[in-house]
Amino acid sequence: MSTRLKLVSALPTLPEAVLEVQGLSKIFRVNQTTFHALEDISFQAGTGELICVLGPSGCGKSTLLKILSGFIPPSAGQITLNDLPVSRPGPDRCVVFQEDALFPWLTVAENIAFGLKGRGLSSQLMRQETERFLSLVNLEAFCDYLPREISGGMKQRVALARVLILNPKVLLMDEPFAALDAQTREEMQNFLLTLWKKLSHTILFVTHDVTEAVTLADRILVMEKNPGRIRHDITVILKRPRMRETDAFHHHCKHLYAMLRTEKAG
Ligand code: ADP
Repeated sequence: MSTRLKLVSALPTLPEAVLEVQGLSKIFRVNQTTFHALEDISFQAGTGELICVLGPSGCGKSTLLKILSGFIPPSAGQITLNDLPVSRPGPDRCVVFQEDALFPWLTVAENIAFGLKGRGLSSQLMRQETERFLSLVNLEAFCDYLPREISGGMKQRVALARVLILNPKVLLMDEPFAALDAQTREEMQNFLLTLWKKLSHTILFVTHDVTEAVTLADRILVMEKNPGRIRHDITVILKRPRMRETDAFHHHCKHLYAMLRTEKAG
């Protein structure tokens, strides 16, 4: 059973739920043995909320995201998006992974435009949308570059633009900055927050990094493993922009580290 905690003052009014997950479980069967990767996962994500899913390696974070994206089915439970059941991949839920999955033979602009193909848009509208998103991720000057010619941070900005251009209801992010160096990672976190402020998507962001979760999240779902469960649902009421050097920031991190240590010992 998860608990709903707050770190400071009163809980804010909850936004209207867009994504609802109820009693989700996942059992993997390998060589006659069964493994409960996820057990009784329930939560709601409100419109425009940025929720981090935080937990140790192997607690089922990626499995949860794969189920939400519709790539794998749950063993039990329901997911609804705006009251409609989710059972397969769809453009209303887009995923950004750790490793960029750009098409290496397409330019930055072509990668961003790719998802718009087959949607019946005129070529002028496609060009306009591509330019809008190139500008949103500050890559106009690199529009004709191939993925191998740009940096890791730039690749992740392309990966973001090419899913945001599809206007998903929920953006699912699986440790998208984990492969980047520390400085680029911090830049990308700030960049994501700027984009989120402009576009107000609902975001579910998986991480095992406490600092990243406190930097980004409105709420943090703290998971434990064996079986993978949500142990705490924490509302982070730190003003934005969040300064990593402040006592309040450290207080939040310490609180979360203590929770994660308890999970390990338990
Ligand atoms: P996390 O993302 O938190 O590191 P994962 O979701 O990748 O965790 O994995 C959770 C658990 O489920 C792990 O113990 C992993 O070995 C197991 N698992 C994931 N996918 C499969 C699969 N296809 N078959 C069997 N076990 C799996």
